[in-house]
Amino acid sequence: MKKWECTVCGYIHEGDEPPAECPICGAGKEYFIEIVEKQEESLTDVTKVEGAASASSAPAQAGKPTGIAALVLKHHLHPISVHTPNGVLPLAVLFLFLAIAFGLAGFETAAFFNLVFVLLTMPVVIFTGVLEWRNRYRGVMTRIFGIKIGASIVVSSTLLAMVIWRLVDPGVASSGSRWVYFLVGVVMVGAVGLAGHMGGKLVFDTRDR
Ligand SMILES: [Zn+2]
Repeated sequence: MKKWECTVCGYIHEGDEPPAECPICGAGKEYFIEIVEKQEESLTDVTKVEGAASASSAPAQAGKPTGIAALVLKHHLHPISVHTPNGVLPLAVLFLFLAIAFGLAGFETAAFFNLVFVLLTMPVVIFTGVLEWRNRYRGVMTRIFGIKIGASIVVSSTLLAMVIWRLVDPGVASSGSRWVYFLVGVVMVGAVGLAGHMGGKLVFDTRDR
């Protein structure tokens, strides 16, 4: 049985042909290369060769990233920069719920400061995410990356809307539109969860199969 590696996400496929589409990242079969293991030598000695004729049109392997991109990838700055605001954001929405449901003004203030903190981290999250996508995943635009990019646009815009809304109307959490305001927060947390889920799929589903 032949082995094929997805050059975008690293998923290993076993079969005579590469799959039509990578089950993890959705890259087409032209992104797969055949892995040839030399049986007579140690198992760790694996040579990768260009695959079948169908794979000859595969885009050239991206060069090693340099400068800031290399630094971001080497130190895993995207997962690091994403996890802190990801933890704070649901907490902010929970605080907002407590403030609205029970009239607790202190929780509303805390929620607002948390949202501002998350907003300040967003440029780093997006910048490192784009660098990682373009270098580690070769900038391939498949469904999974489309979902991640779409989710981050939803998060950024809902977050910005909530912060601006609160600045314009400091009493929004006790106004007539308080539940609409809260709902925007729920959509935001949903989008964060989706982006995180897709990130986890890319990082962990390609391993230990
Ligand atoms: Zn893949």
